[in-house]
Amino acid sequence: MDTVSLSCNNCGAALTLPESARFVTCSYCKTQLEVKREGGAAFTEIREAVANIERDVADLKHDSRVRALRDELASIDSDWDDRRTALMEKSKDGYVVPTEGGAIFLFALSIVLPVGIVVASGGPAHMILLSIAIFLGMGGFGLYYRERARRYEAAYASYRARRDDAESELAVAQSGSKKASRRASQDEDDS
Ligand SMILES: [Zn+2]
Repeated sequence: MDTVSLSCNNCGAALTLPESARFVTCSYCKTQLEVKREGGAAFTEIREAVANIERDVADLKHDSRVRALRDELASIDSDWDDRRTALMEKSKDGYVVPTEGGAIFLFALSIVLPVGIVVASGGPAHMILLSIAIFLGMGGFGLYYRERARRYEAAYASYRARRDDAESELAVAQSGSKKASRRASQDEDDS
């Protein structure tokens, strides 16, 4: 069998092992070693170091996944911030969210106001015409307002759904990286 002479990466002792060997335990210091081959050269590396490097790489991958998901969450939020301004109703108090309740209030007003005018004025023809105009105008605005409320609701619901998805993916990724670290430290304890 072909053998190869290497030195222990921990204590420097000379080791002779089969050329095909991938792992070896140093007969002097008992360190577990991995045989590495790069180009024509072969050398040993302490297995603990190998495990650490592997864990670091796994953690880095998880970290960048977590970072990417956090970025996604932030961009979902900022998209929504832009979107909602366009969907809100501009009033003298600034932007307000259009609601179905507001639409119902407008519908009620579009009936109560004309009826009140007719009753209070005794019902001359021009007042009846004015009342009809008010009913149609306010009712129409109520319909428009209700449409705005529904569009806002729908957009908000889809924003929430996107955000919840991203949030649960982030939670999975975060618990995943904890698990990976735990697993790696267990491996160390075992060896
Ligand atoms: Zn050794």
